[in-house]
Amino acid sequence: MTAQVGHHHHHVDAKDLTSVEAHLADITGSISPLPPTRLGIAEAEGCVLAEDITASRPLPPFDNSAMDGYALAAADIAGAAPDSPITLQVTGEVAAGDSGACAVTPGTCMRITTGAKLPGGADAVVPVEDTDGGLARVMIRRAAAPGNAIRLSGGDARQGEVLLTRGTRLGPMQIAVLAAAGRAWAEVFPRPRVVVISTGDELSEPGQALAPGRIWDSNSFMLAAAAREAGCLAFRAGPVPDDPVGMLPAIEDQLLRADLLVTSGGVSMGGEHDAVKSALSRLGTIQFRKVAMQPGMPQGFGTIGEDHIPVFTLPGNPVSAYVSFQVFVLAALGALQGQPDRRLPAVHAILSGPATSPAGRRSFLRGVLDRAGGTVAPLSGQGSHQVATLGRANALIIVPETVTALTAGDDAEVLILP
Ligand code: AMP
Ligand code: MG
Repeated sequence: MTAQVGHHHHHVDAKDLTSVEAHLADITGSISPLPPTRLGIAEAEGCVLAEDITASRPLPPFDNSAMDGYALAAADIAGAAPDSPITLQVTGEVAAGDSGACAVTPGTCMRITTGAKLPGGADAVVPVEDTDGGLARVMIRRAAAPGNAIRLSGGDARQGEVLLTRGTRLGPMQIAVLAAAGRAWAEVFPRPRVVVISTGDELSEPGQALAPGRIWDSNSFMLAAAAREAGCLAFRAGPVPDDPVGMLPAIEDQLLRADLLVTSGGVSMGGEHDAVKSALSRLGTIQFRKVAMQPGMPQGFGTIGEDHIPVFTLPGNPVSAYVSFQVFVLAALGALQGQPDRRLPAVHAILSGPATSPAGRRSFLRGVLDRAGGTVAPLSGQGSHQVATLGRANALIIVPETVTALTAGDDAEVLILP
């Protein structure tokens, strides 16, 4: 499989290019986090903590049994062994949820279930497997050290201990910690509201008949889905024509519900109709530049409106738009949630085929990563219009700015696509 770079751009002078890192730094440097808000823990998944979470009580909050068995004083069964079992009187049962306002007296024991509060006087639990399971009297076949099968209060976390730090993204595991610590809500950076607008006279809605010369709009669906996958609330505005007069109100209408705006199309260097540029320039400050990458060289970023909403104008080719989203927009979404260093996870893998890249630019090639095998295969069909190849990729292979060709067997840095 050969990674053929399908686009033959005119020669690009390296001194005109902004590096990927410089563009990223400009983006994250100009975005402040959204105002934190209180969210119930059932709603907070995907948000980022704006506070440290500490344990208001020890975890577990009380000494309890780690097993189903018998609570007793370890000293009472010190000599127990399979050939010399010790029999104790069973005075009752304590189950998970019982207040545990009871005690074992010397020479007796209580049946106990996993999670039940340890009765007074007991310092060990003998698992039921080491007994005859008796109800009134129990025969115990094995000694237990003090503390056996007991979960000590504070053994998981001490009172006042920091459980989760500000800046942590809340997934199911972190939500569990919040709930276990008794928190009904948390102070979080909310999910950013992302509005996606695609532009282009050639765009039709999928499902509609295709008139000659037109294509179906894929970018707005793709970018809205990518934003949702990244933990945002995404709104898709239908495609707007390449006409500054119509585009200006279309964008203004969307600003009210946006924390971040993404457009695609209409910013090619060839200077097509320049509708996006002229519409956005009236609403704020946008910088259009060439970034030293492929795909995704023409990039626009700035802020518009009274609230200085971050805006990305992404190139129209679907692969360029997608790569730009994962490289730049993801970092901006992180910055809105107090995580300006948010990036796709990266690993190293051995290339199973060759990969090429224009000099002075960082290439992001679609590939199939085999994480278990530690290999990555560049896909054929690397043109930035070749959306079909997107559907087969699970990773982006990076060919650095200083490298123009990699061959099979070379080590490459690979971004793992979500
Ligand atoms: P542009 O950036 O407007 O010059 O567009 C570059 C290429 O991407 C052209 O071939 C467009 O037809 C295509 N394109 C632009 N917008 C979209 C879209 N929303 N969905 C699919 N292809 C698009
Ligand atoms: Mg266009």
